[in-house]
Amino acid sequence: MALVSIENVDMRYGGPEGTLAVSGLDLSIARRDFTAVVGPSGCGKSTLMKLVTGLHIPQKGAVVVAGHEVTKPVSIVGMAFQNPTMLPWRTTLDNVLLPLEIVEKHRHRLRKHKDEYVAQAEALLETVGLKGFGSKYPWQLSGGMQQRANLCRALIHEPELLMLDEPFGALDAFTREELWCVIRDLHASRDVTIVLVTHDLRESVFLADRVVVMSARPGRVVAEHPVPFERPRD
Ligand code: ADP
Ligand code: ADP
Repeated sequence: MALVSIENVDMRYGGPEGTLAVSGLDLSIARRDFTAVVGPSGCGKSTLMKLVTGLHIPQKGAVVVAGHEVTKPVSIVGMAFQNPTMLPWRTTLDNVLLPLEIVEKHRHRLRKHKDEYVAQAEALLETVGLKGFGSKYPWQLSGGMQQRANLCRALIHEPELLMLDEPFGALDAFTREELWCVIRDLHASRDVTIVLVTHDLRESVFLADRVVVMSARPGRVVAEHPVPFERPRD
């Protein structure tokens, strides 16, 4: 059974006369897939991500994640969206640890002891080049640094499903390619399903096993290709 199944979904913003962002959207994502979603601005890529994470509920059709129809925000999902949204009154480390509180609030048991998560958060920050920045506040970080911290936050609770919407947008080319390797290693080493929205075809082919193409007016999936070569996974 697919981990994510989007079936004939319509999503309209702003009431019955509003923008039909996606229509007749169909997409199925198997467990352990690494899917890249590409397409022009406005074709509904962000809308798709928000439907899967339960931030939007469609007017028509169904979104099913891990066998359950999505009717509210889904807690097994890690997400990093384009615009970093860190809580300004919390340190970077406490922002990274935030999903754990949400998981607990949904009464799911955490797999590890709190201290282990703190160590893990510090290790993640180091992986993305933010060693020593855990005690800083978001306003003390640049946009690119916040984006990297956001990625750590998406990974801290080892989610089964990772939704990444242009997570590398504000980064310089060098940092971006380093983070590509972080994500690729993660997918190679762990049982995780990843959906990545990107404008960058090179990025999609480098990272994903499958590329889904969307088109606009209304947003829908128009093509789907496996990435036709094996990459070294070490
Ligand atoms: P993409 O991520 O591919 O650029 P979006 O999913 O952001 O596309 O947007 C799809 C369409 O829905 C666009 O026409 C956009 O203007 C519209 N849209 C997205 N979010 C909203 C919103 N909150 N209110 C009204 N229209 C929206
Ligand atoms: P993206 O490049 O991912 O499509 P946008 O800059 O288009 O991002 O949108 C940023 C945010 O504004 C998103 O959360 C999107 O849902 C919302 N948005 C996009 N278009 C509209 C719109 N026409 N009206 C209101 N909100 C919108």
